Amino acid sequence: MNQPLLEINNLKTHFNTERGQVTAVDGITFSVDKGEILGVVGESGCGKSVTAQSILRLFDEKYTAKYEGEIKLQGQDLLSLSKAKMEKIRGNEVSMIFQDPLSSLNPVFTIGFQLTETILLHQNRTKKEAYQMAIDLLRMTGIPSPENRVHEYPHQLSGGMRQRVMIAMALACKPKLLIADEPTTALDVTIQAQILDLILDLNEELGMAVVFITHDLGVVAEVCTRVVVMYLGQVVEEADVQDLFLRPLHPYTKGLMKSIPQMEGDRTKKLNVIGGTVPALNAIPKGCRFASRCEYADELCKEKAPDLLLHEGNHKVRCWHYANIARKEEVEHA
Ligand code: SF4
Repeated sequence: MNQPLLEINNLKTHFNTERGQVTAVDGITFSVDKGEILGVVGESGCGKSVTAQSILRLFDEKYTAKYEGEIKLQGQDLLSLSKAKMEKIRGNEVSMIFQDPLSSLNPVFTIGFQLTETILLHQNRTKKEAYQMAIDLLRMTGIPSPENRVHEYPHQLSGGMRQRVMIAMALACKPKLLIADEPTTALDVTIQAQILDLILDLNEELGMAVVFITHDLGVVAEVCTRVVVMYLGQVVEEADVQDLFLRPLHPYTKGLMKSIPQMEGDRTKKLNVIGGTVPALNAIPKGCRFASRCEYADELCKEKAPDLLLHEGNHKVRCWHYANIARKEEVEHA
């Protein structure tokens, strides 16, 4: 069997806060194959962005954060690397793009300067070569007249263009893995579709794997091959994308599905919302973490936390009653 590109085993990310230590990511395990696009979904506060940033060890480990578990990139555990070695991984092997490109770009330098600097930092190139590469990368990400655009400042570009620049920067060293943290959330719908197409094209052309972090299941359906659903720092369901959409098993995933706006059928129908809110990290319930919002919760759910178990094939779920719930729904829909 081929070794996965990225293997995360029982990863925990703890933070020191004024109210004591909290665990934002609590024992997650998943893998990403070469060239695969894996979606990580969930509401705000479910730990998906913390997971993304933990992969690159972006949190301050001296005072703020502590990691446990394993993050293996091609078999090498990133958590065991020195700071200097980790610096080499960032940008070269694994790159990341964020939701808000404006805050990631420096407003006082031209995009050409910023791209060139990124290339010079990671690659052994002359200034002239790096400058030409910057133009080529802008062209590759679909920026028109890249020879002129290199002279512009971030504020002179639209939101979609700025995100393309960020993608160009992330691609500068041909990373094996791109982590895209809500890259289209701040963009309007048509631009969003263009950026998704661009990520799909680059995945196909360069064979680069992508971890796509999003709260939007519609985006997952469009770009991902496999999906991990997170709730309150844990994986509650994992499946191939088709399987997840055809047969969601966890009540939380079903709730997320029902809250996707529909174009067909009765459009006056109210959107389903998952009642309640995600509990605070310093008040994690002892049983199932979703129990306070789950219509099927019983005493067992409130007392004992379920494990993530294999249902069949690649489909895993963390719920005591998923099989009974599925049977009940089948009867209701028969
Ligand atoms: Fe709901 Fe219980 Fe399943 Fe948790 S374990 S999702 S509370 S049915």
